[in-house]
Parts: sequence; C-alpha cells; structure tokens
Amino acid sequence: MSEDSVTIIGAGIVGICCALSLQERGIHVRLVDRGEPGQETSFGNAGVISPWSVIPQAMPGIWKNIPRMLLSRTGPLTVHPTFWPKMVPWGLRFLRQSSEAKAREISDAMDLLCRPSVDLYRRHLQGTGHEGLVVDSFYVHAFRHADRPTLDSLDYKMRREKGAELEVIGAEALRAMEPALSHDFRAAVVIKGQARAVSPGKIGQVLAEKAIMRGAEFIKAEVTGLSRSANGGWEIRTTNEILQAERIVLAAGVWSAVLLRPLGLSVPLAAERGYHVEFPKAGVTLKNSVMDVDAKIVASSMADGVRVAGSSEFADADAPADPRKKALLTQQARAMLPDLDPGEVNFWMGRRPSFPDSLPSIGPIPAQHGLFSAFGHSHYGLMMAPKTGEMVADLLANRTSNVSLEAFMADRF
Ligand SMILES: Cc1cc2nc3c(=O)[nH]c(=O)nc-3n(C[C@H](O)[C@H](O)[C@H](O)COP(=O)(O)OP(=O)(O)OC[C@H]3O[C@@H](n4cnc5c(N)ncnc54)[C@H](O)[C@@H]3O)c2cc1C
Repeated sequence: MSEDSVTIIGAGIVGICCALSLQERGIHVRLVDRGEPGQETSFGNAGVISPWSVIPQAMPGIWKNIPRMLLSRTGPLTVHPTFWPKMVPWGLRFLRQSSEAKAREISDAMDLLCRPSVDLYRRHLQGTGHEGLVVDSFYVHAFRHADRPTLDSLDYKMRREKGAELEVIGAEALRAMEPALSHDFRAAVVIKGQARAVSPGKIGQVLAEKAIMRGAEFIKAEVTGLSRSANGGWEIRTTNEILQAERIVLAAGVWSAVLLRPLGLSVPLAAERGYHVEFPKAGVTLKNSVMDVDAKIVASSMADGVRVAGSSEFADADAPADPRKKALLTQQARAMLPDLDPGEVNFWMGRRPSFPDSLPSIGPIPAQHGLFSAFGHSHYGLMMAPKTGEMVADLLANRTSNVSLEAFMADRF
C-alpha cells in the first residue's frame, strides 16, 4: 500500500469514523475486521450521543460507594472472581484519578471529543438515506426521591459550566414528558441539547457502507499479530494472509491491548462489560434516553424495540456472558416501565474498552513509527467516535491542529 493509504484494524464505530474522516482528507483506507462492521460493542450500547457526557467515572468520593456496589447482588458493579489480580492495579489507578482537580482536567479532554458528536454524526449520515438514525433527545436522569436531584452536585455543576442546559422537574412534569415511566420516579434532571441513536448497529452498518462506496477496502479476517517489515513498514498477520501497511490505526476496541502486548507495550485497558435487554414488542415507548439513577441503567425506544442497557462487569473480555444479568435487567426494566410487555427478550453483552481515566488512547504510539491508536473509549465510544476520527485523520494527513493529544497518549499511565 502507498504512503497515502491507511489500514484500520477494527471496524467498530471508532474505526468506521476514522475511515470516513481519512477519506474526506483524500486518504485511501483499508478496514480489517473479523466480523461485520459495527456489530461488536458498537452494536448494543444505549445510544446516548451527548455533547454533555463530560463526567468521568472516577469522581470525588467514588471510593465510598464502591464497597456497597460490590456487595449488592443487584448493583451495577461486579468483578469476576478470576479478574481480581488485574482489577486491583486498575482500580488503584482509577481511584488516583478521582480528585476534583483531576476530574475537571479529564472533563476538559472529554469535552473536546463529545462536543461536536451530534453535528458530526449528522454530517456523516447526510446523503445515506438513513439520516433518521440519529434523533434529537433529552437525557432524563430519573430519581425516586423528589428531594434528591440538585444541580449543585459536582457532576451537574461541571456540565453547566461547559454550557449544558439543565432543568430539574417534578413528578407531574416527568409524567407529561415520559408517560410510560413508573410513578415511583418523583423527579428528574433533564439534560437538553443532545441526541440519541435509534439503532447503533445500523449506524455502523450504514457508515461502513458509505466508506466502502467511497472506495474503502473491507477485509474480513482476524488479525493475529503485528510486526515490522524489512522496509520499515508493518506486516499485519491475519488468518487469511499477510498484509503490508505503511501506516496502521489500531481501533480494535478492548482487543487492541492484545495486539500491542507482543510489541512490548502494556496498556491498562480493561474489559468493562455491559449488557442490554431489548423488548421488540414492548407495548410502551420513551421519547428520550432515560436513566434510572439508582439502578444505573438507561432505557430508550430504539428501531427494534425498547432497549435497557447498563452494568459494569469487570472480567476477561472473552469470558462467557453472565445469564443472571438477563433476569436482573428485565426486572429492572419492568420496575422502570410497569406497562412493559417483556414477551420476547433479546439479551446482549458487550465489552467497553476502559482505561482508568475514562479517556481513550488517540495518537501516535510511542516508539512504533507508523502505528496509531484509536481505542479505549469506555462508556462514551459512540459519542466520541466521530471526533476521534477527525483527530486521527488530521494527524495522518499532517494537518496542523490546535488540539493537544497529550491527554490521550497510550503511555500516559
Ligand atoms: C451496555 C453498554 C452501553 C453503552 N452505552 C453507550 C452510550 O449510550 N453512548 C456511548 O457513547 N457509548 C456507549 N457505550 C460504549 C460504546 O459502545 C463503546 O465505547 C464503543 O462501541 C467502542 O467502539 P470501538 O469501535 O472502539 O469498539 P468495538 O465496537 O468493539 O469495535 C472493535 C472492532 O474490532 C474488531 N476486532 C477486534 N480484534 C480484532 C482482531 N484481532 N482482528 C480483526 N478484528 C478485530 C472487532 O470485531 C470489532 O468489530 C456503551 C457500552 C456498553 C457495553
């Protein structure tokens, strides 16, 4: 492949957005994935696309909640018993990010990635005939206690400081906004000015088709290893063939770490697994993305039914899904939406690629000429993908940029 070509490993939403932005800069793209584009982690998320999801997971005081969350059988956080040896160092790094100063610093970096997400999705979808896959939405954080929501808490304060329009509403207004929601919810914080995906998997499929129509090559193969070639480029070993590449963007989600390890690079990337249940014949609808703040689950009406997604389960990426999550999420969905008809339930598990500071790795991988990172988007990959693509494309097109990549470097830990 020529100097003006880039091979992207991983055609999740991040790899696909990198492909589109590279093509816009006149660079030929080859995408390699073992599966169909956009059908792994990027398929089953909650669909929240927000300029205001600028709050990292490690916030001040989080340490106080962790034991309670771990001990609860129905809580959002679980650690697989065999994962503890990896969990402890990751968890300590996570806690080190949780001062207010650090959270604010991270929030600024998240802002850079999230702020243009809605506009960039609309630009990418324009002309595909599927512009309706992203719709305007509020993000409704629903509380069971009327006196709990306050805009004075640090997370809402940080959002407001960045320009988010937030409103606290009571039970009556909540009922009018989301009639299907249980009357147990007594108040909500409504985050305005954002969007949601009505089918994250379809967005991946449509945008990958757009990239292919514009000349991207798609190779369906599993990458088994990376090594330097004799001419200073790269050899990509796949299950089918060996590919030559001058420049590689590694966008293989949580599996990126496995491909870096033989090169002597160890990154603290954990598989923070999440689940969804989807009810194709739910019999109820929601107008917005709605979070049950106690259960930490997000419900949304999607093209294929009502989807309820959540859970943070730290485990090996390829460990089997925990079947108990299906019953738990279904029960939580019914508590949120009492008239929901559970009927047929589609159950899904995906792996958030999570660094301890909630930020992805984007940029040149140190001491690996021609190898670039675009992975580690944890809870925010759908919304951060388009700007990630823009940053990667500017970098590879040698465009001058006023964006510092320091916060996103692979060796920052
Ligand atoms: C329950 C849940 C809810 C979520 N909700 C939201 C949300 O509302 N909003 C939001 O912004 N984010 C959300 N996320 C996070 C978001 O889904 C992820 O951050 C995002 O999908 C990551 O995209 P990716 O392209 O990096 O990874 P992936 O989608 O996992 O793509 C990686 C690709 O690499 C391929 N690959 C890996 N290894 C190889 C190999 N060796 N050879 C060939 N191909 C390979 C895989 O097949 C895959 O297609 C949620 C996640 C979960 C689990």
